Amino acid sequence: MFKGILIDKVDGALTAAVSDIDEASLPEGDVTIAVEYSTLNYKDALAINKGAPVVRSFPMVPGIDLVGTVTDSSHSDYKAGDKVLLNGWGVGEGHWGGLAEKARLKGEWLVPLPKAFDAKTAMAIGTAGYTAMLCVMALERQGVKPEDGEILVTGAVGGVGSVAIAVLAKLGYQVIALTGRPEEREYLQSLGAVDIIAREEMSEPGRPLARERWAGVVDVVGSHVLANACASTKYGGTVTACGLAGGMDLPSTVAPFILRGVTLAGIDSVMAPRELRLEAWRRLAEDLDPAKLGEIAKEIALSEAIDASAQILDGKLRGRVVVKVS
Ligand code: NDP
Repeated sequence: MFKGILIDKVDGALTAAVSDIDEASLPEGDVTIAVEYSTLNYKDALAINKGAPVVRSFPMVPGIDLVGTVTDSSHSDYKAGDKVLLNGWGVGEGHWGGLAEKARLKGEWLVPLPKAFDAKTAMAIGTAGYTAMLCVMALERQGVKPEDGEILVTGAVGGVGSVAIAVLAKLGYQVIALTGRPEEREYLQSLGAVDIIAREEMSEPGRPLARERWAGVVDVVGSHVLANACASTKYGGTVTACGLAGGMDLPSTVAPFILRGVTLAGIDSVMAPRELRLEAWRRLAEDLDPAKLGEIAKEIALSEAIDASAQILDGKLRGRVVVKVS
C-alpha cells in the first residue's frame, strides 16, 4: 500500500482524500517511480475541486508534475536508481499522477532530472515554470528583444507569472506585471517587475485597437485581459497565450493581427515535444536565478495539498507550491 490523493465520484458526488492505495491498482506503464515531490498547479486545483473536465476517468490520482527515483523499469532508457522528472502528457488527468508516493508511467514521458537541479528545485519550477520558459522562448523565436520595449506579464503573482517575470527580468527585459493583488507589489518588484498594473485596468471589454504599448506579452488569464493585451501590443509584437485563469473566451477582433501584424502564439506544455522540453529545462538552469525561485516557492506536506488547492482557485496562494510526497 502507499499514500496518495485519490479523487473519486461516489453517487455522483466528487470526493478527494489522502488515501491508502493498493500498489496492484497502479496503471499500466514501463517505469515505476518512488515519488519524492510533486506540485500544485492551477490544473491540479481544478482536478481536486471540480473533477471534470480535467479529470477524464475516476478514480484518479492528481498531480501533473512529479520528481522521484525509478524503482523498476522495463524501458531501455531508465534503470532502478535513476532520478526522473515528469510534466504533463495527460498525467493527473487521464493517467494517475504525482500526488502519491508511487507512480507508474511510460518511459517516453520522462526526462532525466537535469543535473542543475535537485528534486525540490525542479518541482519549485514544475509545469508552471517550464510553461513560463516556453512563453519566453516563443517571444524570442518571434524576435522580441529587450530593446523593443515593455513586456506585459498577466496573472503575475501566480506560478507561471512569477517565473516569467524572474526569467524575463534576468534576460534584460522591462517587465510590467498585471495583478489583482496590488498588495504584492514588493514581491513582484523583488522578482524584477519594474511596475505593476491593476487587473481592473484590463479586465473590462476594450476597443479593438488601443495605444501601442507592449513589445511582447505572457498571458495566463485569457478573456478580456488577453483581448486587451492584443489590442495594446505594438506593431509586429507577439502575445503568448497559455492560460485561462480569467476565462476561456477570447472576445477580440482581428484588428491587432491584420493592422499591426501582431502574432498570437499559443503555448502548450502538456504535449510539447521532448526536444522542446529538454531545451526549456536547459534554459531554466541558465536563465532563472535560484535565489528568486526561493522567494517564489513554498513547501507543504501531502496532507495539506487538498486545502491548498482550494486556495489556488480562490487566488489566495502566491507563486509555486511544492508538495513533499515522501
Ligand atoms: P496560479 O493559480 O498559480 O496563478 C493564476 C493567476 O491568475 C493568479 O495568481 C491571479 O494572478 C490570476 N487570476 C486568477 N483568477 C483570475 C481572474 N478571474 N481574472 C484575472 N486573473 C486571475 O496558476 P498558474 O500560474 O499555475 O497557471 C496560470 C494559468 O495558466 C492557468 O489557467 C493554467 O491552467 C494555465 N497553464 C497552462 C499551461 C499550458 O500548457 N498551456 C501550463 C501551465 C498553466 P494575480 O493574483 O496576480 O492577479
